[in-house]
Amino acid sequence: MATRTEVDETYLDWAASTPMRASALDAMIAAAREGYGNPTGAHHRARVGRRIVDDARDHVADAVGAEPSEIIFCGSGTEADNLAVFGAHAVASGHVACSAVEHHAVLHPVEHLGGTVIGVDGAGQLDLDQLRSIANLDLAVVSVMLANNETGVVQRLDAIRSILDEHAPQALLHTDAVQAFPWLDVVELAAPADLISLSGHKFGGPKGVGVLVVRSNAKIKAQTLGGGQEFELRSGTHNVAGIAAFGVAAQAMAAERAETVQRVGALRDRLVTGIKAALPDTIESARDPLSSQPSPAQQFAPVEKVAGSAHVCFPGIESEALLFTLERVGIYASAASSCASGAQDPSHVLAAMGYPRELAAGSLRMSLGFGTTDADIDRALTIIPEAVHTLRAAAA
Ligand code: PLP
Repeated sequence: MATRTEVDETYLDWAASTPMRASALDAMIAAAREGYGNPTGAHHRARVGRRIVDDARDHVADAVGAEPSEIIFCGSGTEADNLAVFGAHAVASGHVACSAVEHHAVLHPVEHLGGTVIGVDGAGQLDLDQLRSIANLDLAVVSVMLANNETGVVQRLDAIRSILDEHAPQALLHTDAVQAFPWLDVVELAAPADLISLSGHKFGGPKGVGVLVVRSNAKIKAQTLGGGQEFELRSGTHNVAGIAAFGVAAQAMAAERAETVQRVGALRDRLVTGIKAALPDTIESARDPLSSQPSPAQQFAPVEKVAGSAHVCFPGIESEALLFTLERVGIYASAASSCASGAQDPSHVLAAMGYPRELAAGSLRMSLGFGTTDADIDRALTIIPEAVHTLRAAAA
């Protein structure tokens, strides 16, 4: 995705946000122009807006393997996650739980409700024994993300579902599939979930539009009260233009996904292999042991990651210094997930996976996307190892 501004740009932060696909942008502009009537109204202009929303709902339902009536449009992935946790708790008022590597949009609601945060192993996989051990707590909802936003690690929802079916059949299973949607066949892999969160800006759609899939068997309670526009589960006048763009982007992404995964997965492998060849002490999360003599808790089999995720740690490096050096030459990546303050707090994801603070402090998340090119990887491989060498030499 090299674009020429003052410096060459190499965008390696697709997990934070993506550019909009041209087709989604066109749909957004057309919908803003034509679909300005309020979709809940009765006249022609209102019906134009309603048709745009209904078409998008059909596209999203197809892409995620749900019925159109199970698609709840809302204002972000964050809102979808909050609605899942608070909405399920409001119905059943039992215990809530999530994995320790969740995005804060799940983690904070679960902590707010006094829920259990379930640990993960060194590869970021949920501790299924701990899940079993809390299954008698009258669970209302368990939330486990399909793919992690920092490491790209994919969770096995079918194993989690089996445990709930056996020990806590009343519990809803929520999955935050925000990072999984661009890369994985969510129709199959998210099938065990009752509630699924998506966010538009991770796959070439707009920011500020999210979806919560609420399966027809799942009961949750609205958390915004008003006109009840989205099947009485989410109030607020529809963002018609944003929803149109979400639907078009979801359709395009799902149609291209298999090819994108193959092409971008090869680029990711080349990037990680090249960095490790130039800097042999690099640790790739969930693939490499944390030390040459890992403790039993740190031993794990390498796990599946989404194709766009290249996440490594450089011993002895401060991520902030590295990111600053890279930004000056137009390489945009990140350390952990983006947060409002932009401050680099130590990653709760790496901490949960057993990373010592000093190692986690040297993490680099390079995330690729549908627009990443061979030239981007060539440039990253020329610049990143050199930047690490320079920082190490300066610190010596
Ligand atoms: N969940 C995950 C896994 C994410 O990566 C993000 C965004 O970074 C969100 C939720 C929040 O989505 P949004 O930015 O639409 O609020």
